[in-house]
Amino acid sequence: MHLPDLKEARKRTKEKVIEKKVEYTFPNVFVGKKYFLRTYGCQMNMHDSEEIRNYLELLGFTETLVLEESDLVVLNTCAIRENAHDKVFGYLGRCKHLKREKPDLLIAVGGCMSQEESVILEIKEKHPYVDIVFGTHNISDLPRLILENKKKQEIEVYSIEGDVYEGIEYSRDSKITAWVNIMYGCDKFCTYCIVPYTRGKQRSRKLEAIVSEVEELKQKGYKEVTLLGQNVNAYGKDLTFVYDFKDLLECVAKTGMERIRFVTSHPWDFTEEMIDTIATYENIMPYIHLPLQSGSDKVLKQMGRRYTKREYLTLFQKIKERIPNVSITTDIIVGFPNETESDFLDTLDVVNTCQFDSAFTFIYSPREGTPASLIEDTIPMEEKEERLQRLNQLVNQYSLENNKRLEGKVVPVLVLGENSKDKNKIYGYTDTMKLININGSKDLIGKIVNVEITDAKSFSLDGVVAKESVGN
Ligand code: SF4
Repeated sequence: MHLPDLKEARKRTKEKVIEKKVEYTFPNVFVGKKYFLRTYGCQMNMHDSEEIRNYLELLGFTETLVLEESDLVVLNTCAIRENAHDKVFGYLGRCKHLKREKPDLLIAVGGCMSQEESVILEIKEKHPYVDIVFGTHNISDLPRLILENKKKQEIEVYSIEGDVYEGIEYSRDSKITAWVNIMYGCDKFCTYCIVPYTRGKQRSRKLEAIVSEVEELKQKGYKEVTLLGQNVNAYGKDLTFVYDFKDLLECVAKTGMERIRFVTSHPWDFTEEMIDTIATYENIMPYIHLPLQSGSDKVLKQMGRRYTKREYLTLFQKIKERIPNVSITTDIIVGFPNETESDFLDTLDVVNTCQFDSAFTFIYSPREGTPASLIEDTIPMEEKEERLQRLNQLVNQYSLENNKRLEGKVVPVLVLGENSKDKNKIYGYTDTMKLININGSKDLIGKIVNVEITDAKSFSLDGVVAKESVGN
């Protein structure tokens, strides 16, 4: 296992992807045993955990939320930032103590971190009590690795991405909303990002397979699907067929699924036709997460993002003009190597122009093996932290202002569950993906209802059920 170099990885983006079916032929020999599954990172990882959970339950395990009760621990890890790495190794320390008390405990580590050579070496040398290491390309091997484990460390991680699997079964977190993978990996190679190395080249699923998964979810009563990919707008570019993300959106919208979302978009691949399709179909939600990363052309170039500040703003404007009532959120990295104050002011300028509904903001964290990690950085951490504070202040101000404008309005909300802090309240998400707490009955869970917004904060809304409801 090794991290492929840039040239080698790019060359592989031209290779053909093979489609395979997952086989579910293993015995349920672990009846009475418990598993504890901990997931780090993005929606893609959470969805992978739904696949992992299904395998474990077919093997006979039942889930426990208490680590100490478990017979099997699975950590599904994330590699995107250094602190995610520290958290996983910190948690492995707890597992090590538990294994001293329960020598039969099985410990498995999977996900993006286990695709990194340095992590594998660290596990081999310093964490011999870890029994199984599996990667993002061979999740379906986990049942076999568990069944065959002889209480010695087994590392099975493929450096070359796997095939596109069809017929994967999931033990989903929700009976109301579902994630649907439309593609795997990414070909963009932004210079700071580890994803093309840990998740491999872009492999799109066939349109028919995605549509039939959505139809099946609709039949089962799901109200919302989120189409998942590292760069959904590039969907189909790796296939020889003549369809793209716009076509996929259109076909998914025609299934009649009540709510359709997608994440994550890349400004580079976002076409005008895609904007028009989103605007045309009422069941495609008016919400777009459009990562900016930086407002400085110099930094954007160094990041390999392939758009300029002006191009981003033009796209932003088109989306705002053509999709009624759209909300747009973003990701911003502060303190990319050698980012000057003037570069940072360019970022603030974009934030002031776009007035995003919200933004995920981060201090740049170098990831070993990426080109950006080789750039010598002269900006002190205190300066980066101070910039992050200034940015967050501005972002929160606009989030609050945008939310305040909704007070007194009636919006459609998909109710997802009971509020964990106040049992008299329920919560859900507006069509524009804003979290809302509602005074209302639990009978509304799973339904789309009209809610009048009574109060707005930076990160959530409060509301009451309006007289008439939509949906069922
Ligand atoms: S588009 Fe996203 S996932 Fe792909 S390399 Fe860039 S940041 Fe990483």
